[in-house]
Amino acid sequence: MIPTVRESLEKINITSKILFNESLKKYTSLQCGGSADIFIQPDNISIVRKILLFAKQHAIPVTFLGKGTNVLVSDRGIRGITLQTENLCKITLCDTSFTVECGVEVDKLVISAAENGCQGLEGFYGLPGTIGGSIFGNAGCFGYEISEHLDWVEYITPDSKLIRVLSEDADFSYRSSCFLKNSGFISQMHFTFHNFESPNELIRRCMYYRLQREKKGHYTAPSAGSVFKKPDVPEDHPYFGFSAGSLIEKSGLSGFSVNGAVIADFHANFIINPEKKASSDDVLQLIAVMQKRVKRMFAIDLECEIRFLGD
Ligand SMILES: Cc1cc2nc3c(=O)[nH]c(=O)nc-3n(C[C@H](O)[C@H](O)[C@H](O)COP(=O)(O)OP(=O)(O)OC[C@H]3O[C@@H](n4cnc5c(N)ncnc54)[C@H](O)[C@@H]3O)c2cc1C
Repeated sequence: MIPTVRESLEKINITSKILFNESLKKYTSLQCGGSADIFIQPDNISIVRKILLFAKQHAIPVTFLGKGTNVLVSDRGIRGITLQTENLCKITLCDTSFTVECGVEVDKLVISAAENGCQGLEGFYGLPGTIGGSIFGNAGCFGYEISEHLDWVEYITPDSKLIRVLSEDADFSYRSSCFLKNSGFISQMHFTFHNFESPNELIRRCMYYRLQREKKGHYTAPSAGSVFKKPDVPEDHPYFGFSAGSLIEKSGLSGFSVNGAVIADFHANFIINPEKKASSDDVLQLIAVMQKRVKRMFAIDLECEIRFLGD
């Protein structure tokens, strides 16, 4: 008799909890979308390697999820295994360097660095994701990029090999890295700091940056942050230098909605789900409306920053 995926998974002795048909609404900041066929929160990196090997041998697709603050999960869910990184959350400090597992919250790393007098990450305080998700998309804010103080990243290939890549070889650029293309699971990374200040001053700056986000309305309703990237247009274009948000606002779409999905009036590049009633299809329809209107009015193609997971 052919064993089910559940039976086969049990045989490889994974100590982490395995859930079947788990709704992903509570694991994403937009709070919409379907379920994961198989949902696992691995407790350590060697379990990740076991699961990836198992998935490869059984031709099961694997999707990675951090805190779900930059994704839209399909209403039809995610086939195969979804690995969520919440329990991979160790930080190890050695002098002025930190080794950080992928599931560590960005806030936790930023505050640990500040408390140890290490300067450079304060602008990221208040960014609501994990460090793994941030490195994947090279998160940036207030003119800084998360890859700036990074020495190396370790990732696990789909056939379970552990590879260390130096920061300078990881192709970091605006909201991009080699991890977007190589399908690897970012397991841990290493940051070294070279500038130092008093912890009190650094923590004060962290609070300042978080307050800026608060004032802009970032935490007022479920969202996935900025939907679109900064438009890439030539210098002689009449709307060169305009942000996606300002173009959407100029197009008159602020506040426009498709069912429960609404273009935030505090930030036109945010789609919010204020009553938690939006489906992912509503969000997709709204994205299409924004792209069409901006294209028609300004001849600019808006490219999504958020990532689409699932069917
Ligand atoms: C209110 C708000 C404000 C935001 N502000 C900013 C901002 O200023 N700047 C900015 O850049 N972003 C911003 N974001 C977006 C988001 O917070 C960041 O991009 C964050 O870094 C994503 O981390 P995450 O853990 O939530 O990743 P997720 O959303 O879970 O995943 C994002 C992508 O990374 C992949 N991924 C996650 N973990 C791993 C891993 N271990 N290995 C391989 N792939 C992985 C996922 O498959 C997915 O494709 C904001 C979001 C919100 C809700």
